[in-house]
Amino acid sequence: MKPLAIFGGTFDPIHLGHLCVAWEASELLDADVLMMPSGEPPHRPLPMASAPQRLAMLQVALRGQSRLILDARELGRSGPSYTVDTLVELRDEHGDRPLVLLLGSDAFAGLPDWHGWRRLFELAHIGVLSRPGEQATLPEELQRETVDRWVDDSTSLQSASAGHVMALSVTPLEISATRIRQLLAAGREPRYQLPAGLFDAPELLSPYRQR
Ligand code: ATP
Repeated sequence: MKPLAIFGGTFDPIHLGHLCVAWEASELLDADVLMMPSGEPPHRPLPMASAPQRLAMLQVALRGQSRLILDARELGRSGPSYTVDTLVELRDEHGDRPLVLLLGSDAFAGLPDWHGWRRLFELAHIGVLSRPGEQATLPEELQRETVDRWVDDSTSLQSASAGHVMALSVTPLEISATRIRQLLAAGREPRYQLPAGLFDAPELLSPYRQR
């Protein structure tokens, strides 16, 4: 069965690194990808842009294609928003369909800090997206949990509904939202790191510009 992938993030703001790797993962897995902006992220400071502002940027960024699909369910939740709760909901909605949680390699290395992280493997596969930068060694408990889960062929992700981990080799793009926020705050215009449409409506990037 064609998998359904989930790519979550603060998307503060959504940038071409996110879009490029999500698109390539969709091709590699032959999957649709739910682009899922997180509500109140439990393990990081609050985003600079509000939930409606991040949603508006995603709507602009995703225009004109149909493989990457906006799913705003986490924005409607009050209090901290946990991926494990989202996957429980998606599992209910999609029965046995393979679900693949997409994580950049930095996010994957930090997985043991997530609420209920071991349950994630019961609910979905994990697709680890290559991301340039320091190659973090995986924490020991994550190595132990995943040692028998790694597969290197996307057909393994289609024949089970959850439980495998696969490295997805996507184009390395050294783009980060942190750097983009710094550039915008310094009065720069990081064109070609952000979807062009974000520059067409000045209010979209106003949360990051110095007042
Ligand atoms: P920040 O700099 O604010 O931490 P970010 O650029 O890492 O933001 P997030 O919204 O935190 O973006 O990331 C969402 C997901 O996208 C995470 O799994 C992250 O690892 C992944 N990701 C972000 N940028 C890239 C990139 N350039 N290549 C691969 N994965 C990426």
